[in-house]
Amino acid sequence: MAYSYDDQNIFAKILRGEIPNSTVLETEHTLAFRDIAPQAPEHVLVIPKGAYVNYDHFANEASDAEIIDYTRAIGKICKMLGVEPGEGGNGYRLLANAGNDAIQDVFHLHVHICAGRNLGPMLK
Ligand code: IMP
Repeated sequence: MAYSYDDQNIFAKILRGEIPNSTVLETEHTLAFRDIAPQAPEHVLVIPKGAYVNYDHFANEASDAEIIDYTRAIGKICKMLGVEPGEGGNGYRLLANAGNDAIQDVFHLHVHICAGRNLGPMLK
């Protein structure tokens, strides 16, 4: 399947520096920043710098280096936020919406990290 990526999406603009963001972590292949409309006391979005529309696009086509960098960045951020259960934190949720049924709004892969309150059964 050919994935189609629109480089006018808002996260592409953030990556090009056209829109400001509140950066939490930047690595070679990954950028993480605070969600503009947080749904929890901690709400961070983690995006790959590469042009991937959703998780399956990324998992199928990104390089091993990108995937390792992205996965480790998520772990690092959980540590930075102090939310790891069993490590002094009280837990977190990772969520990645893809496509219409998940009501994906921005078509550049992003994992939401939410924490800091009881999150209930679902976010959307
Ligand atoms: P989705 O519904 O999973 O695609 O999530 C998109 C997320 O992007 C929402 O939680 C929005 O609040 C967030 N968002 C949209 N624009 C910006 C922005 O400019 N900076 C940070 N977060 C944004």
